[in-house]
Amino acid sequence: MNGGGWRRAVTALGVDRWARRLWGGRGAILMLHGLRHDDAAGWRGDPGLVTTVGQLTAVVTTLRAEGYEIVSLDAALERLAAPRPEPRFACLTFDDGYRDNYELLYPVLRRLAAPATIYVTTGFVDGEAPAWWHGVEAILVRCPALDLHLAGRRHSFSAADPATRDAAYRQVCALLRNAAPDDRHRALARLERDYGVDFIALSRERMMDWAMMRELAASGLVEFGAHTVSHPVLRGLPEITARTEMAQSRQRLEERLGRTVRHFAYPYGDAPAVDVQAVALARACGFASAVLAYGGPLRAGAPLHALPRIPFGGADTADDLRIRLSGVKTAFATSA
Ligand SMILES: [Zn+2]
Repeated sequence: MNGGGWRRAVTALGVDRWARRLWGGRGAILMLHGLRHDDAAGWRGDPGLVTTVGQLTAVVTTLRAEGYEIVSLDAALERLAAPRPEPRFACLTFDDGYRDNYELLYPVLRRLAAPATIYVTTGFVDGEAPAWWHGVEAILVRCPALDLHLAGRRHSFSAADPATRDAAYRQVCALLRNAAPDDRHRALARLERDYGVDFIALSRERMMDWAMMRELAASGLVEFGAHTVSHPVLRGLPEITARTEMAQSRQRLEERLGRTVRHFAYPYGDAPAVDVQAVALARACGFASAVLAYGGPLRAGAPLHALPRIPFGGADTADDLRIRLSGVKTAFATSA
């Protein structure tokens, strides 16, 4: 049976509902990124970073059909702390601050009367830091090969067909993500020279500007959270650097939006990107919550500065969502 087949069977038998009673917790925070039209074509380096308008509509419809109330993060934290379980709740969160969140997400939220939180990397908006993975994507869209010069080594990748292009994207991004900041900076500058791309300009095209964000904030449907200034891997950064990344992104958002910013999302948000120091700093900076990029449903007593989220994107379906909401996968996951 293929993946879609077993998921359909599980949900058709109601196994997910049975599991949800045991492991579904009090609610869930969903993690999404960009949106696109249902009929949009074009290669994406990381398909998981995009969801179609139709998929998002199905997410909201599925959540409500399964008895979840879609609430703001503040309301979710109140319910998490409440002594008696209330109806299950779900939060919609979107990372990085994509421009399509203004163009496509906002109309969906209005139509469905659903609130959302968008975590913004302020350096992307200000043109001070690049969402460099989209620059890598832009190179691979038009070049059959890519040479990456990183920390004194040359890494050569073919991107002549879809499979090698996908692999090249993943490998280049992994190398850049895990590089020391100075090495990454130099490698990106070399890519810009060699391939004639402008990483900052590409980022700004992809991300919202302050006017868009102010309009969304004024709608009452969208709350903004911080997601650092430059989107670094926080694990292993000097404490002062990590603290500055967190505190300055919050301060910048508060200045430009004229609103209090209470919530934070760790860049990348997986276990290799988040350490104990980062969690302690999120708390010390005064954030009411900080979210990871994995971990399943929310249970009573979940640590407020390492809250789990359920990712959704790419080819995910409503059945995938139902299974993740059930907590059945995370119930049996070993804690590494
Ligand atoms: Zn991010």
